[in-house]
Amino acid sequence: MAKLLPRGRKVKILATIGPSSRDPDTLRALLCAGADAFRFNMSHGDHAVHAENFKTVRALEKEFNRPIAILCDLQGPKLRVGEFAEGKAVIAHGATFTLDRDETPGDASRVCLPHPEIFDVIAVGQRLLINDGKIRLKVKQVDDTSITCQAEVGGVISDRKGVNVPDAEIPIPALTAKDRRDLDFAIEHGADWIGLSFVQRPEDLSEARQLMGGRGALCAKIEKPQAIKRLDEIIALSDGVMVARGDLGVELNPEEVPPLQKKIVNATRLTGKPVIVATQMLESMIESPTPTRAEVSDVANAVYDGADVVMLSAETAAGDWPEEAVIMMDSIARQVERDEGYKMRVRLLDTPPDATTADALAHACMTVGDTIELAAITVFTSTGSSARRVARERPAVPVMVLTPSVAVARRVALLWGAHPIATRDIGSFEEMIGKAKRMSLRHGFGQEGSAIAVMAGVPFGHSGATNLLHVVTLSGAELDEYENDHPEED
Ligand code: PGA
Ligand code: MN
Repeated sequence: MAKLLPRGRKVKILATIGPSSRDPDTLRALLCAGADAFRFNMSHGDHAVHAENFKTVRALEKEFNRPIAILCDLQGPKLRVGEFAEGKAVIAHGATFTLDRDETPGDASRVCLPHPEIFDVIAVGQRLLINDGKIRLKVKQVDDTSITCQAEVGGVISDRKGVNVPDAEIPIPALTAKDRRDLDFAIEHGADWIGLSFVQRPEDLSEARQLMGGRGALCAKIEKPQAIKRLDEIIALSDGVMVARGDLGVELNPEEVPPLQKKIVNATRLTGKPVIVATQMLESMIESPTPTRAEVSDVANAVYDGADVVMLSAETAAGDWPEEAVIMMDSIARQVERDEGYKMRVRLLDTPPDATTADALAHACMTVGDTIELAAITVFTSTGSSARRVARERPAVPVMVLTPSVAVARRVALLWGAHPIATRDIGSFEEMIGKAKRMSLRHGFGQEGSAIAVMAGVPFGHSGATNLLHVVTLSGAELDEYENDHPEED
């Protein structure tokens, strides 16, 4: 079987799949370069394409025996322009540009805006921001079927680019009819995470949660000022959170984003749920094989802040250098995590354990790893909860997460420091210790003579009963004996 070494970093990389990366060879290259999870952007591509992508990722997962998380990101009530005859057009500064209800492909003078709601509420003098705010249009004239604008700032506009209307309130629900169809499709195809866009209220999550019917995990994308006001309630109802800086920086001023990024990362880290920093991380790599110094610093600072995941969007979905972008992100992360000051910085946020046995032991795992040299912390978990509690402590050593649930293993691929392994359940203490040792050796954590910490709950098979922390030493003899007996098991 093809082999992937341990990543050698704690932060995870989430790469968006698109036309630049969806062929199996490129996806394999992204995986080998360091992608831990893939994001399917439901705003682009039809179900046939996404179904094909599901197949490709699951085949790679099998090929490398590495659980991979798939996050299906719903478009949400995001407003987008229609398509262009040539895929794109250039709007000149100062030019007149019209958004209308005509589905004919657009050009440099007009394009379809397939959202009737906007025509009802937009007013002369208001702004329309296109493509993450890069193009700024000012409304000059409105009727039922067209909005005529002047381009205060022009630029390249292409198929289905996003439109923000910061000056008007648009009366649209949190899940559109398209989102419901996409959500059904994603869940049916085994998506591990669902990304919910433009969350404004806690109720938006309950609705999605209900439609998910207990399958998949829910990631709330924070990209509306309204969501910031009720952040803690929204985090409490989610399984993970995304700092969706693209729309957040358009809906608010860009300079408001960095402090909010820190606030959202910290608030989410306190709960132990994974938090993703997204958008424009290596933006210039869409066209260039090397990033700007500022982009490198941005990725590095998200890693220093202790985010669980850093994300690539168009860099891997539609850019010219998808593999280079992953390689770059991976090397930035590894460089930061090798820095002496990293451990201190990542723990600047105080995350006191709850008064539970599981948290007391999770905290103990962290201090054991700081006191003696450990090759890994091994956590046996059926729901992933104890893995989250251990990762929340930001221990200095990697966390091997062993679970009989493939779904949990995949979901944990987006958790800081976690190396997920789907493995058969264990029935006894001896079996557990034996498996922890073998898996460490087999997955490249430590060698003969290394120590590992093992955390579990006995009796086995009861979730929420974590009560045991054991430190053991690896011996090569055990691996040899085991390999001879069970060459197939994992
Ligand atoms: P999007 O979300 O790429 O789906 O818009 C991320 C963001 O807004 O930053
Ligand atoms: Mn967005």
